[in-house]
Amino acid sequence: MSGGWKGSDRVTRLPRGWRKIRKRILERDPICKLCGVRPSTHCDHIIAKADDHTDAGLQGVCGPCHDAKSSREGNAAQKANLRPGRRRPPEPHPGLRG
Ligand SMILES: [Zn+2]
Repeated sequence: MSGGWKGSDRVTRLPRGWRKIRKRILERDPICKLCGVRPSTHCDHIIAKADDHTDAGLQGVCGPCHDAKSSREGNAAQKANLRPGRRRPPEPHPGLRG
C-alpha cells in the first residue's frame, strides 16, 4: 500500500523566514480576505497543497475563517481515508441491481 494518509505535515513544510513572510502578508492584507470583515491574524495558503510561499500564494485571514478553511481541508482529506459511522458493504456492481 502506498499513498496513504500521512497526517499533518504542514508545519514542517513552512519555509525559512516564515515569520517574516507572514508579517508581510498580514501587513498587505490587514483585513481577512475571506470574510472581508475581521482583521487578519493568520497567514493562509490560498491553495493548501500547493506549497506556494510567495506573496501571490498567501493571503491574510482572520482566525475563524482560517479554522473553518483548514477544518474543511482536513475533513476532505480524512473522508477519503477514514469513514466514521456505519460501514456499508461494498457494492460490486452498481447499476446492475434490481
Ligand atoms: Zn474572516
